[in-house]
Amino acid sequence: MANDEKNKKYSKETQMIYGLAHSTKWDYDHHVVPPITASATYRLDSAERGAQGFIEFANTSNETKRKQPILIYDRLGEPNKDILEENLAFAESGECAVTYSCGMAAISAVFGILTKSGDDIIAHRTMYGCTYSLLTNWYPRYNISVQLLNLHDLDMLVNAITEKTRVIYFETPVNPTLTLLDIEGIAEIVRKINGMRPEDEQISIVVDNTFATPYCQRPLELGADIVVHSLTKGIGGFGTDMGGVVIGPERYRDLLLLYRKDFGGVLSPKAAWPVLVYGLPTLSLRVQRQIETSMRIAEHLERHPKVRSVSYPGLPSFPQYELAKKQMRNYDGEFAPGTLMYFTLKSDSPQESRDKGEALINYCADNAYTITLAVSLGHTRTLIEHPGSMTHSSIPADEQVKRGMDPGGVRLSIGIEHPDDIIRDLDEALSQI
Ligand SMILES: *Cc1c(COP(=O)(O)O)cnc(C)c1O
Repeated sequence: MANDEKNKKYSKETQMIYGLAHSTKWDYDHHVVPPITASATYRLDSAERGAQGFIEFANTSNETKRKQPILIYDRLGEPNKDILEENLAFAESGECAVTYSCGMAAISAVFGILTKSGDDIIAHRTMYGCTYSLLTNWYPRYNISVQLLNLHDLDMLVNAITEKTRVIYFETPVNPTLTLLDIEGIAEIVRKINGMRPEDEQISIVVDNTFATPYCQRPLELGADIVVHSLTKGIGGFGTDMGGVVIGPERYRDLLLLYRKDFGGVLSPKAAWPVLVYGLPTLSLRVQRQIETSMRIAEHLERHPKVRSVSYPGLPSFPQYELAKKQMRNYDGEFAPGTLMYFTLKSDSPQESRDKGEALINYCADNAYTITLAVSLGHTRTLIEHPGSMTHSSIPADEQVKRGMDPGGVRLSIGIEHPDDIIRDLDEALSQI
């Protein structure tokens, strides 16, 4: 069946299990599951064919897309990640995808292809700790300026954009506070400004969609230009391998491939394979279950006398509930508020808040069967962590508070366990603090 026909007939969820009916990346028509590949280099048959392979690499045309690639060397391309890329682009409604060794490699590739010395990056002020470190410790050394703003304030954004601005970067939901940024609102502003600029001065909106996963939110459908993911998280889902991906318009494919060829950061086929075979095909199933459980746990925590606040986009009390309902939608158009929450405990001072958060986490680490103290997220297992001292420790403590984080804030990433068991373990831990 031709791919277009199939796209119309079957749901996205089903197609994420089967992938493209006809991948030109590799002939696995007779394998039900694509074989894991393990060849660093490829036999080229003749000097002419080798030369042709180098001509075709990162030189995408309609013709090269239709035929099997001439495989040369793993760092340039190989079947497992090439097939995975087709399926990831499909899951995010993007034209093309290029994978990397981890989320940070994908994020640095995006900045790498979109900026050069003298340019300016605008990013939301709260984000994953390593992205913050990348932007604040490294880009200034390359004479790329970085403005960290509160992107909830769209007027401030308009005022901050200069003729040097090339990228607007943010996560939504924001890690770890779970506040949302309005993708369509930001896209509308940028579209207007881009309309008055020449091609080489256009601003790209890049969204890190790791928290939501494409099951809950597809930023490209809402006006973003590029999406990045840590495949290590929800898409990989089982927590066995690291990976990253950039998804966006076809015109960036060759640059992204060249960047990967020259800077490295290649996704290993042995890491691409589990995402292709286990992660992506079960994404919908896992996230549906995780959303149901998250909703129950968020409601439970909100009612708990020791809890001060719960930030979960699915709660009617969530300050941006309307925005959540607008932009967090699954493939069937249903509200899909994600699988993460952030909560704080009642306390009389920031120090007490921090002590209580730590006590809760330590109790879970020692006693809870269904709640594991670990960073990362989107796992089959429920994970708990303290962003202030762990994932976001590269942001100074006083800066954390300015960015909306609470010194005692606890981040919970819901797994696929029975919800009653997670609630029982949480209640027991809360009763001890
Ligand atoms: C984990 C994470 C990253 C980095 O991904 P790695 O695969 O660990 O390199 C980037 N952004 C967000 C939101 C993340 O949670």
